[in-house]
Amino acid sequence: MKFAKQLETESEEIPSEWRPYLIQYKALKKLITKVAEEIESRGLSTSLLHEVLDEEAAEDDDCVPRIRYYFTGEPPNVKPNIEFTYDSEEPKVQKVLSKLMSLQSTQEIERPKLEFRKSVNNTDFFSLSSAPLSPPLSVVSEDQVITSPGIRTQRKNSTVTLVKELLNLTLEERDRVKDTEPIVQEIQPQKHLKTLVIELEQDDEFFKMLLEELNQAALLQDVTSQKFKHDISDLESRMTKVASPTQKSDMYNWRQIFSLYMDAQIFQGHAESDREFRTVERARQQMEWFIEQLEKSNILTKLKTPESKSAFKQFIALNTELITMKHYQMLNQTAMRKILKKHDKRSGLTASQSFPEIVSTNHLFSPELAHMLYSTITNKLTTIIPQPEDYACPVCMSVAWRPIRLSCNHVFCVRCLIKAQKKGMNSCPLCRHPTAVRTATALNLDEGLQNFLKMYFPQEIKDKKRDNEREQAIEDVQAMTGKKYTEEQLMRMNQPSDSKCTIM
Ligand SMILES: [Zn+2]
Ligand SMILES: [Zn+2]
Repeated sequence: MKFAKQLETESEEIPSEWRPYLIQYKALKKLITKVAEEIESRGLSTSLLHEVLDEEAAEDDDCVPRIRYYFTGEPPNVKPNIEFTYDSEEPKVQKVLSKLMSLQSTQEIERPKLEFRKSVNNTDFFSLSSAPLSPPLSVVSEDQVITSPGIRTQRKNSTVTLVKELLNLTLEERDRVKDTEPIVQEIQPQKHLKTLVIELEQDDEFFKMLLEELNQAALLQDVTSQKFKHDISDLESRMTKVASPTQKSDMYNWRQIFSLYMDAQIFQGHAESDREFRTVERARQQMEWFIEQLEKSNILTKLKTPESKSAFKQFIALNTELITMKHYQMLNQTAMRKILKKHDKRSGLTASQSFPEIVSTNHLFSPELAHMLYSTITNKLTTIIPQPEDYACPVCMSVAWRPIRLSCNHVFCVRCLIKAQKKGMNSCPLCRHPTAVRTATALNLDEGLQNFLKMYFPQEIKDKKRDNEREQAIEDVQAMTGKKYTEEQLMRMNQPSDSKCTIM
C-alpha cells in the first residue's frame, strides 16, 4: 500500500497530461489477486510453487523433474507458462502415474480441472482456464496415453494431482542432489523425458495489461523525446545567432552561463568515479545550484538582446523538462519492479527474474533516454561557444596568443616558445618530441587558429597582448641596464601607471 500512496503523491510532480501514462499500479494489483485465486482454485498451491520455483537450483538444467516459469512470444504478445519436465520411466514418477490410473473412476475428482489443450511431440499443453475450451484443433502427435476418450478424461482430471506430485518430487530430488553434491554425476541412463505445460489465463491477463501500459509509456516517451530533440535543434540555431562573435557581449555572457552549467554537473559528474547518471533528486539539487549561481552573477539582466533572454529561458526550461522526464521514467520503472515483486509474492511465480529482460530487449523501457537527451544538450548547445581552457597554452595556461604549432602538433603561444628556446629546450614538454621546440620558427604560426581565437576570445587576447608587451618592456629594461630586478620591482613596473615613461 505504501508504494501506491507514494506513486500517487509523486505523480503530482509530473505534468498532468503524462499521468495517464503511468503504470496503473492499483488495477494491476487487483489482477494479481485474481492470478493467485486462479492458481489456488485450480488446485495448485501458490506456496508450493513459490518453494519450488524460487530457488537457484531451479536453474539447474540437469535436475529432473524440473519446473520452469517462462514467457513465450514477443511483446506485446507474451504468454506466461509453467512447464514441468519429468522422466516418465523414473520409478517414482511411474508410481505416481500408476496411482493416478487406479484412481480413475472410483474417485472421479470433483476438484477443479486443468483443461487439456494439445500435445506436441513429447509436450502436453494444459490451460488453467475455468471455461471449457473448444477441443484442440491441431494435435500434431497425440500421446499414446491420451488417445482414447476415456483415458483422456481421466488424464485431465488427474493432471492437477500429477502436477502436485511433480512439485513434491522436484523438491525431493533437489534435496537429494544437494546432499550428494560432491560426487561427480555418473553418466545418466537414457531418460524418457516428457514435458507438461500449463498456460495461465489470469496471469496472461495481468501481463497483457502490464505490457499495454508499458507500450503506452513507450509511445509517450517517443513523442516526448522527438519533441525534445526538435526543441534542442531549434534552440541550437537560435543560440548560434545570439551567442555569435558579432554579439560580443552576449557571447561572453553565454560563455559564462555554459561554464556554470558544466560546473553544475546536473545530470552526470565529470569525474570518472562519478559518471553514473544522477538520481532525480540529485539532478534537482544540482539544477537549483545552477540557478542560484546564475542569479548571483546577475546574468539574466546582463544579457543584451531579447532573443538572448528568450533563448536563455528555453535553455532552463529544457533542462527542467529533462528532469521531469527522468522522474516519470523512474516512477514507471519502480512501479514495474514493485508490481512484479508483488505478483511473485502472491502467485508463487517468478516474473521479476524473466519479465524485465523481455521488455528491455524490446525497448519498451529505455533507461538511456534521459541520458541520450542530455548528451544532445551538451553536444549541441554547450559547444556553440568555445571555452578558453580548451585553447590554453600549456605553459602559461591562458589563451595562446600567436599560436605556434610545433611539428608534433602541440600548440604554444609564441612568447612561451621563445622563452623555452632561450633556455635551450629542444623537446616538446608535452610529448617529448626530441626537436619540436628547437626547430619551431615564425613559420609555425597557425594562422587559422589565430583568426579563430581573435574572433572568439577578443577580451582574453587583448589582456594577453598587454601582458606580453609589459613583459617584453621589462626584459628590454633589464637588457639595457644589465640589472636584475626583484620580484617586487617587477610587480611595480607591471602596474599600469599614469605617468609617462620615465626610463629615458
Ligand atoms: Zn603560453
Ligand atoms: Zn608535442
